[in-house]
Amino acid sequence: MQYKRILLKLSGEALMGERQYGIDPKRLAEYAEEIKEVVDTGVEVAIVIGGGNIFRGLAGQSNGMDRVQGDHMGMLATIINGLALQAALEDKGLETRLQSAIKINEVAEPFIRRRAMRHLEKGRVVIFGGGTGNPYFTTDSAAVLRAIEVEADVILKGTRVDGIYTSDPEKDKTATKFDKISFTDVLNKGLKVMDTTAFTLSQENELPIVVFDMNKKGNLLKIVSGENIGTVVNL
Ligand code: UDP
Repeated sequence: MQYKRILLKLSGEALMGERQYGIDPKRLAEYAEEIKEVVDTGVEVAIVIGGGNIFRGLAGQSNGMDRVQGDHMGMLATIINGLALQAALEDKGLETRLQSAIKINEVAEPFIRRRAMRHLEKGRVVIFGGGTGNPYFTTDSAAVLRAIEVEADVILKGTRVDGIYTSDPEKDKTATKFDKISFTDVLNKGLKVMDTTAFTLSQENELPIVVFDMNKKGNLLKIVSGENIGTVVNL
């Protein structure tokens, strides 16, 4: 296997499947199956899940809500998604733990780095909910932060597109895909991989990012097996 410990970042929107809002149980079950295939190889899997399918702080702000209030709602949304993903993974027979960045002890363990690492060593899938626990951050930042903290080898960012392109392939038909690209080139070319805070944190800590299409069956397993899927961002 190419990696021993991975951090998988899934956006909340990915969980919507064909829906406009919320969680599509079919999509959730498909993701759980993909994740199980990887866990079965012995690779340790941590997951950070977004909340955009339920609520984003910025959307609240544009409707006149206080930003921090909205961000708190967004963080809670990530915990709802985390619970849903946990249930789907357990349905496949996997052992899991949900750790939250905000205290919600009846529902999820608090985030404790050493405990998270112990769970991973034991082959449990650890889902990190609640983002970073702070407003004004994103779950991409949470993903990078947690990946560094638990010493993951890589961040796998599952998206709807199969990598990083010269421009948005959903809008520009002439766009071409990079197989690999450096952090510096992403910045110089003004490409969008993650928000700047998350991206810089990854760069500074030399944590590679793989951007790939999570909706293509088997992709996740192929990446951890060392196949060239998606785009790798590295030094
Ligand atoms: N959020 C936050 N702090 C964090 C992570 C998330 O306040 O550390 C809030 C923020 O309002 C964000 C929402 O949670 O809009 C959902 O997260 P995100 O937008 O990253 O989800 P995704 O786009 O991955 O679905």
